[in-house]
Amino acid sequence: MSVIAHQVAEVSKVPAPAGLRGSRCGDCAVTVYPADDACPRCGRATSPVALSAVGTLWTWTVQRFAPKSPPFVPPPEGFRPFALGYVELPEGVRVAAVLDTDDLGSIQIGMPLRIEPSNGVPHAIPIEEA
Ligand SMILES: [Zn+2]
Repeated sequence: MSVIAHQVAEVSKVPAPAGLRGSRCGDCAVTVYPADDACPRCGRATSPVALSAVGTLWTWTVQRFAPKSPPFVPPPEGFRPFALGYVELPEGVRVAAVLDTDDLGSIQIGMPLRIEPSNGVPHAIPIEEA
């Protein structure tokens, strides 16, 4: 079992809500998010697949200034710096997500996260380890 699969297994003991919808190639088994009708590796047809809702943080950064608007929609209370990262799922997919935490100092590569769909970029919520 890989380190990531082990970490995910440890934090996955509580049933997870539905995760993101991706696609998997029927020929070479490449899995992607967001879903695509054609495989990015071999071009053959893909099938929809439900991705794991729990993964680990692959890398991250902090957005310290408001992105160009549009497309960015600033919140009513005004812009505040926020973290963005890639969440690596057991399927081998890395998904860009906003990290839902106000404690930027607590973010660590490899930390377990629960990823949830949203209108736009998915959100990832830190999971407290037992
Ligand atoms: Zn393929």
